[in-house]
Amino acid sequence: MGMLTAVRKRLTDQDGTLAECRHCGTNLTKTETECTVCGSREIAEYDF
Ligand SMILES: [Zn+2]
Repeated sequence: MGMLTAVRKRLTDQDGTLAECRHCGTNLTKTETECTVCGSREIAEYDF
């Protein structure tokens, strides 16, 4: 396994989706349906 493959595997081993509150920009996990800071339900999700 080359170094690049190892890095890529490490990234994809994480939960795979980053979520961010559209209102205040707080980083959330995709399991959260509302912002823990401002309570907004407008969550933007980014899939890797
Ligand atoms: Zn928020």
